[in-house]
Amino acid sequence: MAESHRAEIEAEEDAMRVEVDPNICEGHGQCQAVAPEVYDLDDDGYCLIRNPEVAPDLERHAEEGALACPVQAITVTR
Ligand code: SF4
Repeated sequence: MAESHRAEIEAEEDAMRVEVDPNICEGHGQCQAVAPEVYDLDDDGYCLIRNPEVAPDLERHAEEGALACPVQAITVTR
């Protein structure tokens, strides 16, 4: 396996992931207000995750958006 490919796979495995539970999300929009780079809203104001695998430079935004959710609908994992 080429080194660059291996590095790419390892980077993906290490990536922070964000998930929103649609059964919990109440469409408060706080996630998107705090971190629009990571969180978007659908036409009804419910959270849409732009990319579940968070780029390293967006990790802080992802965490801040998750913390801003008043109903803890967002899960951040590694
Ligand atoms: S802040 Fe929470 S409840 Fe509001 S849209 Fe985002 S995930 Fe949904």
